Amino acid sequence: MSVRLTVCGSAGTHPGPGRVCSSYLVTADGTDLLLDAGNGSLANLQTVRDVADLDAVVLSHLHPDHCADMYGLYYARRFHRREQPPLPVHAPAGAADRLAALLGDDGPDAFTPWCAFVDLAAGDAFAVGGLDVTAFRVRHPGTAFGARVAAGGRVLAYTGDAALTAELVAAVAGADLLVADATWLERDRPLLSGIHMTGLEAGRLAAQARVGRLLVTHVKPSNDPAEVAAEAARAFDGQIIVAADRMELTL
Ligand SMILES: [Zn+2]
Ligand SMILES: [Zn+2]
Repeated sequence: MSVRLTVCGSAGTHPGPGRVCSSYLVTADGTDLLLDAGNGSLANLQTVRDVADLDAVVLSHLHPDHCADMYGLYYARRFHRREQPPLPVHAPAGAADRLAALLGDDGPDAFTPWCAFVDLAAGDAFAVGGLDVTAFRVRHPGTAFGARVAAGGRVLAYTGDAALTAELVAAVAGADLLVADATWLERDRPLLSGIHMTGLEAGRLAAQARVGRLLVTHVKPSNDPAEVAAEAARAFDGQIIVAADRMELTL
């Protein structure tokens, strides 16, 4: 069984020219799991999947660049020509109420029954079809998670938005593919601490966690992704891939 990753959004913090915000489709053995639904990403997702085929969503945290397209996804499922079962949405506690606030007249239960929100907690493990998902907390403003996704003996680790910590190294250890926040560049220091990684820090994370390959992503649109990857290469001598919208990888 092969595990495939499709990048539906690779821009960090806000969309850039031709790049939209965080979203990753993970597919194995007919199961489709969406990691994050950042603003704009639903357009890319629909170039490769009918939204009706999604089996579950994981929202790493509730910054708009990771969850804003839950609105489009909700409407697309609600008004789909095929009747839709509730879509499990694993998200930080309170996500449904926070997101529903923008739906206004539809009320606090607006997402019901098209989306079934499930509170995420550190260490939660659950199966989505043939994919085994484990959530872990990361250091980032608010309640934020990363996820390990395992299938067929292959492991993808997704940092979400995260600062580099020893806990993060342990959480992503040994992954075949590390999808890592690499928003910033070292040359822009001083940077706010406890929010994101630079390219160099993403490389350090990959090296310390002994992962197979590193996908640098969530690059701020004003940064050159190639420069971010070059920073990562100063710390990690494995393969480094620069994420691009609609890129597909096989684990
Ligand atoms: Zn972000
Ligand atoms: Zn964030």
